[in-house]
Amino acid sequence: MIPVNTPLLDGNEKKYLLECIETGWISSEGPFVKRFEEEFSSVVNRKHGIACANGSGALDIAIAAAKIGPGDEVIMPAFTIISPAFSIVRAGGVPVLIDSDPLTWNMDVDQIESKITANTKAIVVVHIYGLPVDMDRVLDIAHRHGLTVIEDAAEMHGQSYRGRPCGNFGLISTFSFYPNKHITCGEGGMVVTDDDAVAEHCRGLRNLCFQPQRRFIHEELGWNYRMTNMQAAVGLAQLEHLDAHVKRKREIGERYLNRMAAFTGLELPLSKTDYADNIYWVFGIVLADSCTATPEQLAKQLAEKKIGTRPFFWPMHWQPVFNKQGLFRNERYPVAERLAQRGLYLPSGLGLTNHEIDQVCESLQSALS
Ligand SMILES: *Cc1c(COP(=O)(O)O)cnc(C)c1O
Repeated sequence: MIPVNTPLLDGNEKKYLLECIETGWISSEGPFVKRFEEEFSSVVNRKHGIACANGSGALDIAIAAAKIGPGDEVIMPAFTIISPAFSIVRAGGVPVLIDSDPLTWNMDVDQIESKITANTKAIVVVHIYGLPVDMDRVLDIAHRHGLTVIEDAAEMHGQSYRGRPCGNFGLISTFSFYPNKHITCGEGGMVVTDDDAVAEHCRGLRNLCFQPQRRFIHEELGWNYRMTNMQAAVGLAQLEHLDAHVKRKREIGERYLNRMAAFTGLELPLSKTDYADNIYWVFGIVLADSCTATPEQLAKQLAEKKIGTRPFFWPMHWQPVFNKQGLFRNERYPVAERLAQRGLYLPSGLGLTNHEIDQVCESLQSALS
């Protein structure tokens, strides 16, 4: 079996976890949490890191700390994981969607300005699958219109945009440490920011908005999104290998690209843009119009050869949960729709071997023909 993701846990994970158990520090009060926050935020050159339970929780915290509230419009991509849209809707805000660029699969920044209204408060940038969004242009638009930028960098550990780390843009950036990310805690997330007051607010939101002066009196709604010392122990060990993980991810992506260069009927990820080299968080393929198979048929054939795949994200305007609330009805985002209907991704985890990549490519080629 070649699963769609296999994590790599070959560093100090065991040692640090054992330390948690031997010292009895298993909760969020343990010392690894602070160390992980400090070391992770310094990698992305941010003043503050606030570790939390997962990447979706990090987005909830970010949206609340950016003071998104009822009636506020927040611009975000149509083609993404659902987490940022959930956070916006839960805060009472209205997600305003942007279609994708057909080559990078990221939000098409040319379409942002036409969607700005008097109610627009923020832009949530989500870097999709391995290439960053064109941040200079987003920051310029945000600056000219007085909008807050929140960066969902959950797929971008170790990636940079024009040499500046992803996770360093806008007021707040968020990360996930789910096992298919470049570094993992099992489950985990992080909010990073340079703003002292925002950081303090995020720490409160993560911890039920307990107040330092009077612990059991609460002024605001919060969550228990604390990260445990055990999660941070694994995360810290993983962070020690970030550069190696990024290097390996790029090797995996380039090997797939080379092996598939002559395949017909596929649209492959760009290996780079003029502002970044692809980090291949996942290796996605899009079936060209000339390909008569559907991604479901291809996935089924690969599954018969014990190769795991995943479909691409399903766009926000087609999510029943939002349509039931009256959101996005009759809206169309043709590029996002096509990606959702024609895309799938192949095994891309750090535990994947070169031999397995070659096997996947062989099976894919025979399935395509
Ligand atoms: C993985 C991911 C998340 C969610 O992170 P969890 O830790 O699974 O909650 C959010 N945004 C993006 C872009 C992701 O890839």
